[in-house]
Amino acid sequence: MNAPNYDKPLPDITALTRPFWDGLREHRLVLQACARCHTVRHYPRPVCDRCYSMESVWVTGSGRGTLHSWTVNHHPFHFAFKRESPFITSTVDLAEGVRMQAPLRDADASQLELGMPVELVFEDMTPELTLPAFRLA
Ligand SMILES: [Zn+2]
Repeated sequence: MNAPNYDKPLPDITALTRPFWDGLREHRLVLQACARCHTVRHYPRPVCDRCYSMESVWVTGSGRGTLHSWTVNHHPFHFAFKRESPFITSTVDLAEGVRMQAPLRDADASQLELGMPVELVFEDMTPELTLPAFRLA
């Protein structure tokens, strides 16, 4: 991936996960689902946890969910994140029944409560790379 203006670690995009990243680039949440039992799963993986089918499809998610938990990152795990520390990483229960982690933007950690509604936002880092984040809905 060519990302001349993005100096943070890049996601490892594989054939298995490419539809998720392509969806983000188009500002859509695309989630993997089982083609047999329709169970949605995230992150993308080859086998259904429920019925063990290896057939999957991609579905468009709502991007809406509730706050399951969060972490305030004071110590950057990579030097490229130092200038934006502290920042909040959230774990969100999406409406589709799966959990997803992404930064939580424009939020005051002292005001957060479990179960708060959040929505997905799309952060265009380069023409090829869009990363997910959440904000309070
Ligand atoms: Zn299944």
